[in-house]
Amino acid sequence: MYWRNKLKENITTVSELKKYIHLTPMEEKAIKKAIEMHPMSITKYYLSLINKEDKKDPIRRLVVPSKEELNPLGTYDTSGEKENTKSVGLQHKYSQTALMLSTNRCAAYCRFCFRKRLVGLSDSEVLKRFDEAINYIEKHNEINNVLISGGDPLTLPTKVLKQFLDGLADIDHLDFIRIGSRVPVVFPDRISQDKNLLKLFSKHSFKRKRLYIVTHFNHPRELTSKSIQAIDALLGSKVIVNNQTVLLKGVNDNPDVLAELMNKLVSVGVNPYYVFQCRPVKRVKHEFELSIAEGCKIVEEAKKKMNGHSKRFKYMMSHKRGKIEILGLSKGYIYFKQHQARNPELLGTIFRRKADNHSGWLDSSMKLY
Ligand code: SF4
Repeated sequence: MYWRNKLKENITTVSELKKYIHLTPMEEKAIKKAIEMHPMSITKYYLSLINKEDKKDPIRRLVVPSKEELNPLGTYDTSGEKENTKSVGLQHKYSQTALMLSTNRCAAYCRFCFRKRLVGLSDSEVLKRFDEAINYIEKHNEINNVLISGGDPLTLPTKVLKQFLDGLADIDHLDFIRIGSRVPVVFPDRISQDKNLLKLFSKHSFKRKRLYIVTHFNHPRELTSKSIQAIDALLGSKVIVNNQTVLLKGVNDNPDVLAELMNKLVSVGVNPYYVFQCRPVKRVKHEFELSIAEGCKIVEEAKKKMNGHSKRFKYMMSHKRGKIEILGLSKGYIYFKQHQARNPELLGTIFRRKADNHSGWLDSSMKLY
């Protein structure tokens, strides 16, 4: 199969990477250490987007490890995934939504990943008993949508995806199915060149359950002719494409970059859905996290450069308490709204905390006012 063989050409070692990007001995040493803990895998396509002259290139930062990654600040499960796991690979945190961890593999490993604890590593959290998951969802009438996540589900063979979609499509109380994937960004040929995948999506989205792909563009330079071709193919298969972005230091922490990204996404038919505050993940926090106050300023400045469609997204934090919308900064306070919650009594509540220049997360010590 063309795309599976192509993935075997991914760059996974320092010696291969050195052929494409100049690395100092110090950088080599840091990368070697980092990938002992969290593997590196970069598609040749995505590698070609890196500006090799620029050590701080945002595309490079997204996939090439650096010494900053060796900093162990943070934790590996920042949003309480363990507590919400009902059986291996099946999470149920919000009443209407079930989440399936379909794989621990991705087309490329992003250095900022919030599931760093598992991608490219152990498959112990990955769904093993599909029937058991389907049974659980069938018994819970309140679930009206399922998110197939991972890892990246689009790295699974098309016939395996078919099993997922067929199994879920038979559940009457489901309204739609989402697939979270960064494949349109890092490996768009997997979509454009697999006619069976597109046929499968078209059949399901049109005749059975509406399909959404939630993709993950973080920088406007990721929107290339190839990725746009993949988006066109998805739209042509009657799939709705939403995008979530993570606000990342040194990548998109600039109002012009963020505005350009959102405006470009809308221009190619992708709906900006969420901008996420970077989670305080171990070996991610130190390198990529911005304070919430900084984030508010960047998002608001960026919104001034966007039309109404481009700024439909919500600035969001995926917290143990649930999804918390970061409403904005006013007179020294940051305002938040509980958008989704494990505890339904919290839904819709608005609260604030004093703004400072260092807090990147709401932790247990947070003071509410
Ligand atoms: S594709 Fe998604 S799951 Fe995989 S490493 Fe990137 S962010 Fe993590």
